[in-house]
Amino acid sequence: MPLEMEDRARALENEYFHRKEQELIEKLRAHLAVENAKATELQCPKCDGTLMEANYQDIKIDVCNICHGVWFDAGELAQVIDKDKDGGWFGRLFG
Ligand SMILES: [Zn+2]
Repeated sequence: MPLEMEDRARALENEYFHRKEQELIEKLRAHLAVENAKATELQCPKCDGTLMEANYQDIKIDVCNICHGVWFDAGELAQVIDKDKDGGWFGRLFG
């Protein structure tokens, strides 16, 4: 394959994965937004937002109400993925 075409193929591939990634993030955000329960005392490390405590299968996840950053405490991400192995929404996203 000529070099130019290889570059083009790679660019398309990158674009594809970027788009997939964006879709996953949007799904995750939409889901967490539904389950947002109460504001915590914590401020977002990234912006002026307040971290909301979202509950996912008894695991607390902090989600910023402005930038929608998701913050896991140590081990929480592993717990979420672990709990979700059997076909939950998180498992579908990352499985
Ligand atoms: Zn934020």
